Amino acid sequence: MEQLKCIGCGAALQPEDETKPGFIPASGMNKEDAICKRCYRLKHYNEVMDLDVDSGDFMAMLNALYETDGLIVKVLDVFDFNGSIIPSFNRIVGDKKVLAVINKIDLLPKSVNRNRVVHRAKHMLSEAGIKAVDTVVISARKNEGIDMLVRKMSEMADGQDVYVVGTTNVGKSTLINKLIENTTGDKEVITTSKFPGTTLDLIDIPLGPDSFIFDTPGVVVKSQMAHYVHKDSLKFITPVKEIKSKGFQLNAGQTLFISNLARVDFTEGERNSFNVYASDKVNIHRTKLENADEFYEKHYNGLLAPPEIDRPYLSEDYSEFEFSADSDSDLSISGLAFVSIGAGAKIRVRVPKGVDVVLRPTIFKG
Ligand code: GDP
Repeated sequence: MEQLKCIGCGAALQPEDETKPGFIPASGMNKEDAICKRCYRLKHYNEVMDLDVDSGDFMAMLNALYETDGLIVKVLDVFDFNGSIIPSFNRIVGDKKVLAVINKIDLLPKSVNRNRVVHRAKHMLSEAGIKAVDTVVISARKNEGIDMLVRKMSEMADGQDVYVVGTTNVGKSTLINKLIENTTGDKEVITTSKFPGTTLDLIDIPLGPDSFIFDTPGVVVKSQMAHYVHKDSLKFITPVKEIKSKGFQLNAGQTLFISNLARVDFTEGERNSFNVYASDKVNIHRTKLENADEFYEKHYNGLLAPPEIDRPYLSEDYSEFEFSADSDSDLSISGLAFVSIGAGAKIRVRVPKGVDVVLRPTIFKG
């Protein structure tokens, strides 16, 4: 039988492997003018496909970016700073300038001081060895700070191209669509191209007479909850509006489950208040520490869902962290929740293996 080719990119069409070029759902195979899923998304949604950090394509992207001149715009999710870091990021940067963009600021309560947020982002970037020349705080969804971002991008790029990079779910597509609206007003001028020497797609948006903004593939990293949750279920853990806290007065010997993806054991200390900031669709349950294992086994895909998950990660394949809060602190569970905790508590936190958890001085109080 004749091999069918995608009319967009020319790849041989195949319905078997979504991560390989030419993938098309089996139902679309025999349609006239069939195009692969990747080209379909580029054409209809201005969206480049995400890449797994372990894939060869990811290495190809790193190498191609390294060879390129231009400004790097690194998008960070205020709700998931740790999961926003692309591994080997410094390989991309070389001696290029980096502009850090803190997205989704609309999620934090208005009372949170923005300087503290910027300070935390800078601290985290410098821990990862990344030097950002400047930092802009935005909400791509609410169109906040986009003008300022475009201005800084033009200034810093100084006629060179701009590459927007980020891990999956940080809001890169939402931002790219805002940039298209704000910089061109005319969608017809948007074109797509490929990283030189790779099959990886880019979307280019004119920035000035000779320079472009390029959207690069998002990177899926294991430190993000997004890696453990079905794509359709992500909407349950990703907050969409200002996060409100849910408060719990706990005694040592109690456990909080934050959906089926995290468990916080209060192991030692005086009675303390735990305030959980998470999507309002996330279920939070309190139980006795001594019953917590059994509770999870019984309820991980019932009471504690959504999201749906493949396996009971917290009983099979997990990481554990221990912290002692010397001052009022926030526990940050990548992409799932902040938990603010009063001074004096000792806690143990369990998450799917690979997910990051850190304890930092609080941004929610004082
Ligand atoms: P990408 O994977 O980085 O391209 O991320 P998307 O643009 O698909 O966004 C991931 C999720 O975050 C979606 O549910 C978006 O609606 C949401 N999102 C993106 N930008 C913002 C923002 O500025 N504020 C809020 N609250 N949500 C956002």
